[in-house]
Amino acid sequence: MIKITYQQPDTKGRFGRFGGKFVPETLITPLKQLEDAYIKLKDDKNFQEELNNLHKEYTGRPTPLTLAERLTDHFGKAKIYLKREDLCHTGAHKINNVLGQILLAKYLGKKRIIAETGAGQHGAATATACAKFGLQCVVYMGETDIERQKPNVLRMKLMGAEVIPVKSGSRTLKDATNEAIRDWVTNVEDTHYIIGSVVGPHPYPMIVRDFQSVIGKETLNQILHKENRLPDYLLACVGGGSNAIGLFFPFINYDEVRKIGIEAAGKGLDSEEHCATLTKGRDGIFQGMKTYLLQDNFGQVRKVYSISAGLDYPGVGPEHSFLKEENLVKYYSITDDLAIEAVKLLSRTEGIIPALETAHAIAYLNYLMPNTSQNQIVIVNLSGRGDKDLNTIMEYL
Ligand SMILES: *Cc1c(COP(=O)(O)O)cnc(C)c1O
Repeated sequence: MIKITYQQPDTKGRFGRFGGKFVPETLITPLKQLEDAYIKLKDDKNFQEELNNLHKEYTGRPTPLTLAERLTDHFGKAKIYLKREDLCHTGAHKINNVLGQILLAKYLGKKRIIAETGAGQHGAATATACAKFGLQCVVYMGETDIERQKPNVLRMKLMGAEVIPVKSGSRTLKDATNEAIRDWVTNVEDTHYIIGSVVGPHPYPMIVRDFQSVIGKETLNQILHKENRLPDYLLACVGGGSNAIGLFFPFINYDEVRKIGIEAAGKGLDSEEHCATLTKGRDGIFQGMKTYLLQDNFGQVRKVYSISAGLDYPGVGPEHSFLKEENLVKYYSITDDLAIEAVKLLSRTEGIIPALETAHAIAYLNYLMPNTSQNQIVIVNLSGRGDKDLNTIMEYL
């Protein structure tokens, strides 16, 4: 029942009017080299086999698609399944992308890996993969974030990564990104730069999407095996948008499967303290891409907020901006308060403590489920586990 044929991005890396490569001249060549190498490798049998094997033996894939029986009973409507990315090594989906890119670096003969990190999740995943492959790892992190995220800094250091404090600007993620880009331009001969979500200039949004699509590919096989039919709804949280697009992409040509992305409404959409980019943002250029962006009246990127560090981002992957405008995915937002309630709900009904990011998707079930019927199927992407958030939750409660 394929009704549409979705082929994005175009050869210039654009998703409609979004995406592209808005970068200084010095980055054009390295980005082109990365793109050419990736296009060649992605269908290479050895590369795919090595990545599949790594996922099987190290990541712990395939992750289960668990029927959430008590959560289903709680609503008394459609059957709810959970795609268990929380069970991946390191506790979230980020490792899917990082291992793919590390392997890409290995095939390109790059010996040094750099990354930027805000809350430290992407930095820790990158340090993990570098340790596994014996590659030098340098992670740029704002001084403010280093202070706020001590456990993740320790994790990175234990695994042999060098964490470089960034003292410029607001000393957070944005400044760390600038430093990482500066490093990459200088050391591109032996260095690969790993971006952690479907953001940045082409080809990153495409590469990260493809590596995260393992989530949706497995889900499609698993649901056909268990239910012998397609699901009615797919639900995922959206920060940069990598776990969401990873789940949605293999289903993108099936328009009878409705896809829903959930952003963070923080303290409410009427406050300034949220990061609901697709609901409240408008076109802008940021970190090498054209996309929806939260900005002030002068076009400056706004300060944003969410209780979950992974959603606390003023932009969004350009493909999501495209999917929203084409009406192929619906986007809504959920506040801190409702996310915390959802942490409790999933913990009590299923014995699974979700990450705060993930809890935003769970919370949306309160709106979705009343409109479903018992013969329907809903799949929620459980992007990560809540261990990392226990302190935040404790402070909140
Ligand atoms: C980083 C993170 C997210 C947000 O990133 P996306 O690129 O939007 O997936 C969501 N959930 C968890 C558990 C994360 O660690």
